Order: sequence, then structure tokens, then C-alpha cells
Amino acid sequence: NVAVVLFTSDLRLHDNPVLRSALRDADRVVPLFVRDEAVHRAGFDAPNRLAFLADCLAGLDAGLRKRGGRLVVRTGSVAKEVRRLVEETGAGAVHMAAGVSGYAARREEELRAALADTGCELRLHDAVVTALAPGRVAPSGKDHFAVFTPYFRRWEAVGVRGTLGAPRTVRLPDTTLASDDLPARGDVKNVSPGLADGGEQAGRKLMTSWLNGDMGDYADGHDDLAGDATSRLSPHLHFGTVSAAELAERAREKGGPGGEAFVRQLAWRDFHHQVLAARHDASWSDYRPRDDRWRSDEDEITAWKTGHTGYPVVDAAMRQLAHEGWMHNRGRLLAASFLTKTLYVDWRVGARHFLELLVDGDIANNQLNWQWVAGTGTDTRPNRVLNPVTQAKRYDPHGDYVRRWVPELAEVKGSAVHEPWKIKDELDYPEPVVDLGEARARFERARGLD
Ligand code: FAD
Repeated sequence: NVAVVLFTSDLRLHDNPVLRSALRDADRVVPLFVRDEAVHRAGFDAPNRLAFLADCLAGLDAGLRKRGGRLVVRTGSVAKEVRRLVEETGAGAVHMAAGVSGYAARREEELRAALADTGCELRLHDAVVTALAPGRVAPSGKDHFAVFTPYFRRWEAVGVRGTLGAPRTVRLPDTTLASDDLPARGDVKNVSPGLADGGEQAGRKLMTSWLNGDMGDYADGHDDLAGDATSRLSPHLHFGTVSAAELAERAREKGGPGGEAFVRQLAWRDFHHQVLAARHDASWSDYRPRDDRWRSDEDEITAWKTGHTGYPVVDAAMRQLAHEGWMHNRGRLLAASFLTKTLYVDWRVGARHFLELLVDGDIANNQLNWQWVAGTGTDTRPNRVLNPVTQAKRYDPHGDYVRRWVPELAEVKGSAVHEPWKIKDELDYPEPVVDLGEARARFERARGLD
């Protein structure tokens, strides 16, 4: 008997419960990836993610070939392409990871409808995209946690484990299976020059060196902008080239303050996923609706997007995003706070821009972190404002991060780089787009805090 494995956000062979179940239940397996036209129409296949995806699919195909299989790639509507493949192969089951977004729920519904009269069942697998399945823990009488700390307590008590290795062999059916060409990274235009490599091999290498490294610094150092002491595993977690459960288990085994702090961050990822799974609308609507009358000054928004706000740490972060398709978490917090609280611009404007560039751009993590910063989400202190100068002095005390990304300020020594307006020399660097004191007063008025 034949099963189809529909790969989505789980582009890996190691610790993949979807692939494992299909191989257990069927003698022949067809590994499938559909280049979904709906994702393309929604503009979600931004160049950086498309380029990274090309690496992931090439790696998956190579790994499958080593085991006697290969990846079948089709393009179009997921439901139609899966049905066509089921008809071609006589498959009795389609296995896939359960998704958390509204889009994933619609895709699952369409698949179910497309398979209804084929006798082929759709088997969804939990805890593939996240370490712990959404809804697996919840406060009594509720479908999700709205506050992280109690969620984390329950998450830890469950003790997620990722223990499945990679299968040894994958046997394809005898039928000849047509496949579209794999997308090539080199064909994707407008990719950030410093984009990381994708694929399971690159992901596992990064995971291993991260876990073998000195994670001791992570507890204290993960906020240090210049130190760049975080794992950079987020794109691999987004595409599933690294298993969140395996990573959590191995980091927990490593232990120590670094390991513990890191596991906690992984739980943040699951936390946002369980919020989105219960509240699909929170992708673009306020999680906690507020009466914000957001401002919309196009010049200020452009200054923010291009890294020309006149606030060096914000500009450095935005330029890192453009160059690498990735940004340090502290940079994301500062850039997002600046847009939503200092400029008082709708979080959706920022979230959309991030999704155009972030290689790890993820509906759950991006939208809910933006909401968290904007104060429309799960933050229990929704009106806190991060001051970009004080924060810069704390998290980039010597100014190295700013000098790395803002060449106009490369000659300015030490932390003076955070306040270029105080420097007498002529600098080819913009004046601040807004006065911080006025901006704070405006925000407080808008939120009725004055
Ligand atoms: P590490 O510090 O090494 O952490 C390990 C992993 O934990 C990360 O890879 C990530 O999966 C998870 N994690 C860490 N912090 C968070 C967090 N605050 N929320 C959820 N998961 C977290 N993360 C994304 O993966 N995709 C996004 O689109 C995204 N958008 C963001 C937008 C804003 C405005 C903010 C403030 C944060 C966003 N984050 C997003 C969360 C976080 O910034 C990144 O996950 C992190 O910077 C990735 O770097 P790392 O892998 O080196 O992190």
C-alpha cells in the first residue's frame, strides 16, 4: 500500500513524525511538496524565504535519494495536486503536519473535501511544527494561554522530547511520477546579500555547533546586539529543517543557565503558535482590540524601512534586516517599538514589511511579537515604550553594532555613536525624524495615559 507524505513546514528527515508514521503504515511512500499558488498569490513567498526554501527542497531531495526515494514537486493548488497524486498512485493515506494558522486550517479543509470520494484518508500529525502541540496544555475552561509564564510552567512539565532519527530507506511506488524542477536558489531575484544557507544539512550543522558551543553565555548575552550570541536557528525552525522538539530536548540535556534560557525561548515560539491556533484572526486583527488611531506619515515610514530615522540603533537593526533577511531579537524589539510607539504607526505596517524580508518570517511569531510590542497582544504591560537611546546604551554599550551596520557613523568612537546629534563634526547622517519626548507625550495622550 502507498502513502503520500505532504511536506509543509517540516522539511526534514530527522525527527519527523509525519514521515515516520507514513513509513510505518505503508510499504511505499511518495514524498511530495506542492508549490502552493495560494502562498504565491498572498505574496508570502518573499525572495529571502523562497531562496532559503530552494535550499531546503534540494536538501530534502538529496536526503531522500540517498535512501532510495526522491522528492516529487508539483505546482498549483495543494488540494488538486494531492488528489491528482492520490489518483496516480492509488494511495490510501495522505500524511501531513497539522498547521496552526487560518491558512493551514483552510488548506486542511480543502484537502479533506478533495479526498472525500477517493477512499484515501487525511492523517494530520501534531507537534511536528512546534515542540508541543497547540491546545495540549490550556487553562481550565479555555483553549489557550494568554500569558506566557503559566504556559511555560505547563510546557516544561510536559517535557517535550524529539527522539526520532532519520529513516534508513524510503521506497517509492513503481509508478512513474512526474515532478516539476526543484526551484533553484540562484534563480530567485532580490535576495538579501547576506542570506544564510537553508536545508536540513545546514540546519543540523548549526544546531550541533550551537549545542556543542558554550551556551553558558546565552543567559546573559542573548540581548547583546554586537555579541550576536544567539543560535540563528529561527529560519530552520520556521521551515522545519530542525525539529523544535529535538532541539528542546537536546538543549535541556545540555542544561545550565544557558540551556535553560534557550529552552525558554523555544517555549515562546510554541506559546505564540498556540495563541494563533486558537485565534486565527490575530494574524492581522488586534488580539486585544484597542482604540488606536494610528498615524501614517509616509516619509517617517520610509525612513524607518530604509534605516534613516536618525536613531542609530533602530537604523542599524533595519539595515541588518535588509542585508541578511534576519535581525537580532533585541533589534526587532527596538525597531518595532520605535514604529508602533514612538512613531505611533499601525503594527500591521511593520509586520508586513518584516514579512517581506525576514527569512524566518512566520505568521505566528511575527504577527504576535508585533502585537506584543504594539500593546495589542499578550504583553501584560501594553503601554511600555522602549527608549532607543537608553536601550542602545544598555544592549550595545560600546556602539559596535551600530558601527557595523551604519557606515556613516563608523568613525564615531564608543557609545557616543548612539547620540550623533550631540557630535559637533559634520556627519552624513539624518537628523532624528522625531523628538523622543514629544513622541512619548503623543503616545501617552493617544492611549489616555496623560
Ligand atoms: P535564539 O535567541 O537563538 O532563540 C532560539 C529560538 O527561540 C528562535 O530561533 C525562535 O524560534 C525562538 N524564539 C526566540 N525568541 C522568540 C520570541 N520572542 N518569540 C517567538 N519565538 C522566539 N521569530 C521568528 O521565528 N519569526 C518571525 O517572523 C519573528 N518576528 C518577530 C518580530 C518582532 C517584532 C519581534 C520582537 C520578534 C520576532 N521574532 C520572530 C522572535 C525572535 O526575534 C526571533 O525568533 C529570534 O530573533 C531568532 O533568532 P535566533 O534563532 O538566533 O534566536
